[in-house]
Amino acid sequence: MSFSEVKMIAQDIPFIDLNKQREKISLKIEAAIQKVLVDANYIMGPEVLLFEQQLSKFTASKNVISCSNGTDALILALMALGIKENDAVFVPAFTFAATAGAVALVGATPIFVDSDIKTYNICIESLKSAITMVETETSLNAKAIIPVDLFGLPANYHKIQAIAQENNLKVIVDAAQSLGATYGNRQTVKYGDIATTSFFPAKPLGCYGDGGAVFTDDDEISDIIKSLRVHGKGTNKYDNVRVGLNARLDTIQAAILIEKLNIFPNEIDARNNIASIYSEALAKHTIVPFVPESSMSVWAQYTIRVENRDVIQQSLKEKGIPSVVYYPLPLSEQTAYKHFPKSPEGTPVSSLLSKSVLSLPMHPYLDTETQNYIINNLLLSLEKY
Ligand SMILES: *Cc1c(COP(=O)(O)O)cnc(C)c1O
Repeated sequence: MSFSEVKMIAQDIPFIDLNKQREKISLKIEAAIQKVLVDANYIMGPEVLLFEQQLSKFTASKNVISCSNGTDALILALMALGIKENDAVFVPAFTFAATAGAVALVGATPIFVDSDIKTYNICIESLKSAITMVETETSLNAKAIIPVDLFGLPANYHKIQAIAQENNLKVIVDAAQSLGATYGNRQTVKYGDIATTSFFPAKPLGCYGDGGAVFTDDDEISDIIKSLRVHGKGTNKYDNVRVGLNARLDTIQAAILIEKLNIFPNEIDARNNIASIYSEALAKHTIVPFVPESSMSVWAQYTIRVENRDVIQQSLKEKGIPSVVYYPLPLSEQTAYKHFPKSPEGTPVSSLLSKSVLSLPMHPYLDTETQNYIINNLLLSLEKY
């Protein structure tokens, strides 16, 4: 198909098509939900433990603690590490609000670090100078780094771990967008002291509501998180040994996730195929995602960078093609967060990214015909604007 020969598609294209996936496994999902309804173990029913075991097997993480959502997963991780007031936690400026929000909610101070221009993940040089700044110019105690695997692409764990070791910092991997992604020969939830993920419906592994999980190979941390998840319970649930949350995963969501985890490895392959098709067609015409050799992304988003973003987005919209800007403003420039410190060089790359990124429809069931329609219309817009 040449650029000019663009076929019309009858219906609007979904940005993420959750119904195609549901239709594929609807009988299994409905039976799984029905079983939970009849069994009536709505809180911490057997499906919760089973899902945790299966996720532990899938990720090779020794301990998996499911929880209420990806934000609570980060809060549980920070609480388990004892991070509190007067502590500094280094976070990327270009991420979803929850990464920094969780830090502020436990009373600690998020320190905004700039992004790497190639990977869009936390910039190593900016991280180093932010650490030096906190140690020399503030009275805060530098405690932890939260790298985010943005859009599903692993952060640079080799360098992050070296910096963490040198500066005696903990690492909490925010894998909300990257469950299943690998760095070297391990999944990213195997890096750091603790990792977290989200099962928000639009994430690579999503449930039908809110859900999340915490991963750690440390049994002691795991026990603390299990206690924090249920009000800080001790061995007896009416003798609480610490102040905790109510942050459990619902049994119904666990039952749904068991069915979805079964098809997840195939979906990751499909996402990678779709991403390669995009990149092959678009690389000569715009800035496509960069994937370092040692990394495998799970493509929570397929994000290009363009100059005239607004016109391009509008012209796609007129063809029934949705696109989304993740994220239009770095956290370091948002009302709730701009008073927090940032790296001495500021966050110029994060600002640049927020002005040029554009995420295209991406999900495992995007068919070739629809993808070609998206690609051809995008190429036309890029040529025109
Ligand atoms: C989605 C997301 C979260 C929060 O997950 P929820 O389940 O929505 O609370 C945290 N961090 C990042 C990077 C995310 O994308």
